Amino acid sequence: MTTNKSSHIILASHANLLYKETLPIHWGAKNPIERGPVVASLTDKKRRNAIGTHSGTYAVYRALSIAAKKYPPMHKPDLENTYSPVKFGPYDSWHDPDKMVSIDPWGLDVQDHFKELMKNGHDIRPTIAVTQARLQIPEIYEAIDKGRLKIDGKIVTENKDIRVTKVALEPVWYLPGIAKRLNVDEGELRKVLFEETGGIFPELVTRPDLKIMLPPIGSTTVYIFGNPEDLSRSNVELTCRVHDECNGSDVFGSDICTCRPYLIYGIEDAARTAQRGGVGIIAYYRKEGRALGEVTKFLVYNARKRQEGGDSAANYFKRTECVAGVEDARFQELMPDILHFFGIKKIHNLHSMSNMKYDAIVGSGIEVINRIEIPMELIPTDAHVEIEAKKAAGYFTPGTKKAGDELKAVKGRDIEE
Ligand SMILES: [Zn+2]
Repeated sequence: MTTNKSSHIILASHANLLYKETLPIHWGAKNPIERGPVVASLTDKKRRNAIGTHSGTYAVYRALSIAAKKYPPMHKPDLENTYSPVKFGPYDSWHDPDKMVSIDPWGLDVQDHFKELMKNGHDIRPTIAVTQARLQIPEIYEAIDKGRLKIDGKIVTENKDIRVTKVALEPVWYLPGIAKRLNVDEGELRKVLFEETGGIFPELVTRPDLKIMLPPIGSTTVYIFGNPEDLSRSNVELTCRVHDECNGSDVFGSDICTCRPYLIYGIEDAARTAQRGGVGIIAYYRKEGRALGEVTKFLVYNARKRQEGGDSAANYFKRTECVAGVEDARFQELMPDILHFFGIKKIHNLHSMSNMKYDAIVGSGIEVINRIEIPMELIPTDAHVEIEAKKAAGYFTPGTKKAGDELKAVKGRDIEE
């Protein structure tokens, strides 16, 4: 095992740690060389120009592997044959420092964009990867059997698989841009990020010259139906669902919310759009339980069901705030960055009832034509509390919203049931 890493710890906590080997980053610059690569690898600390490191939360597991002496710390990934099967960009959005502040568009196919630098020993790693896959989903089989979706041998194969292109995107934060998006001072943002994570990266407060941070948070996965390059063509019909992870429903089919039904309905419609010559996109964000986490979420479920009068649409949001301190921590302001990576300018069918998502998308300069709500027949019985509460709070619906006694009357199952 190669272990020629220095054994003493450098906290990298002083601005005088600027090395001549460090490449500058000009966020939003026209081409990758002028922009400069994000170097967050740890094999040569002098060349690092970012705070944090790759793989989001999994960086901690990599550290465990190194500590357990199962992983050579000086390992550099062999990127041969790992490149994307599809070409994306560059689009105009890639050259706008304000359009994307939470991902790095040049993090896709770094072996192409930064070939010479990598030949010269720079350890530059991808933060975006693309591959192709097929989906096998029971609800989709049903949609085919009922004639809602047809087998065309192209999007839907003979054995009812859906062909997709999938894209994984790790977060890369441009801190001045994040601060601007949230309307806070950058220095204040860095201080709070440092303090409220129990002091995670000292460079946040000691190295104001480092503007890029790779936060240890979840990534985003995108599934594309049809020709991926059509996403940037506004004359091609585009169906989109922006979905925040809900493991309980998405994977396990838990019936207290509408997450899986809405997700699968989005997949079905995205495939259908591709079949009529359009393109579909499902963006899946790892923001479990409104980005408050699953422990908080389960506590809220109990609090909702045990409160006086039982689980009711009238008190839905209040219970979350009591437990978590805030109703929602997803910061939808950052969500459209993923759409801008694909050069999206117009969404014909947006599968979402959330006013926060809609406002963020439209506010980022993307036109939305139709907003699609989940069909009533797909809502599980216990999830009517959630859906009525959301509609009453301003979520989109072409139908009617309940209020007062009518809203109070929407009740969920008891905790013992
Ligand atoms: Zn859910």
